[in-house]
Amino acid sequence: MAIGSPLALLALWATAFILVVPAHSYLPMGTGSGATFTDSTWAQPPAWVINPTVSGANIAGTPADVTNIMQSSFATWMGAPDTHVVATFAGTSTATGPQINENLVCFTCGGVDFSQDGTLAITLINFDGSGNITNANILFNPNASTGAVSGQPICFTTGDTNSTCPTSGSVQEDLRTVATHEIGHFFGLDHSAIVDAIMFPFAPPFLQTLSYDDVAAISLLYPDPNPAVPTGSISGKVTLNNTGVFGAHVFADSTTASSPFSGFALIRKTPISALTFPDGSYLITGLPPDTYVVTAEPLDGPVNDPNVSWALEWGQPAVQTNFTTRWH
Ligand SMILES: [Zn+2]
Repeated sequence: MAIGSPLALLALWATAFILVVPAHSYLPMGTGSGATFTDSTWAQPPAWVINPTVSGANIAGTPADVTNIMQSSFATWMGAPDTHVVATFAGTSTATGPQINENLVCFTCGGVDFSQDGTLAITLINFDGSGNITNANILFNPNASTGAVSGQPICFTTGDTNSTCPTSGSVQEDLRTVATHEIGHFFGLDHSAIVDAIMFPFAPPFLQTLSYDDVAAISLLYPDPNPAVPTGSISGKVTLNNTGVFGAHVFADSTTASSPFSGFALIRKTPISALTFPDGSYLITGLPPDTYVVTAEPLDGPVNDPNVSWALEWGQPAVQTNFTTRWH
């Protein structure tokens, strides 16, 4: 991918977590070429800093509250089964907008567009010429009214005992839920079409843990060389009239009550999924031992083409949705 000015770099990939105003695939960020998809990951473990200022933002909490929540949300990903991923907390920053030279978490920053209805937070990612992540900023919507949901301001809550919002009449959203989702982007994950995944693009009011789909995603990008739960994969091909279907949502769903990740706290059992490659083939990795049914469906809602970067990453106009749900 051609690299332009720093500003163009910043624009390379950005995503917004949207509050629900009305299942997948885990999906890494990366670049598709020929029959190969190259994931984008941090080449070196990143350090992150925080501007903990909450004055002026619609947050029910203190600078210490938001700092603690960010640290524990990073820890959620770092503690995922079968995963070795590290990000270190490097203290505070006074930055008030997106940064190139530090990986900033900010609650009162400007410099990005939060105006889409219901935008809770935006993560901006920079890549080098090889597709490695070199920089990331997580910016929470600081404005009580911009990005409001149907005219109601958004307020982030930081705990049961600290839920009094500065602006009355606010729609309350759990900060740690949003933080955990944004940190998934920070580490290189795109959205998932699995409804209960933390990487599902529409925010539930409260969801602070990872699903099997999230674990499959993060352990693919940052595998533990000695995984606690050995996993396998399912591959195949989705065709329509003998032609491969691009961007079909394919997910493996357990048919049993077993809990292969039960040795880890609070990993929620969900289907694990993938999107098909341009030739219709798919590979679902990170499947713990179990019995599965695999289903292929069009990515036509609630998650659809604009919610994921898959078509863009493969240089395709859009994912293909002119078919009906099939399973085997
Ligand atoms: Zn997102």
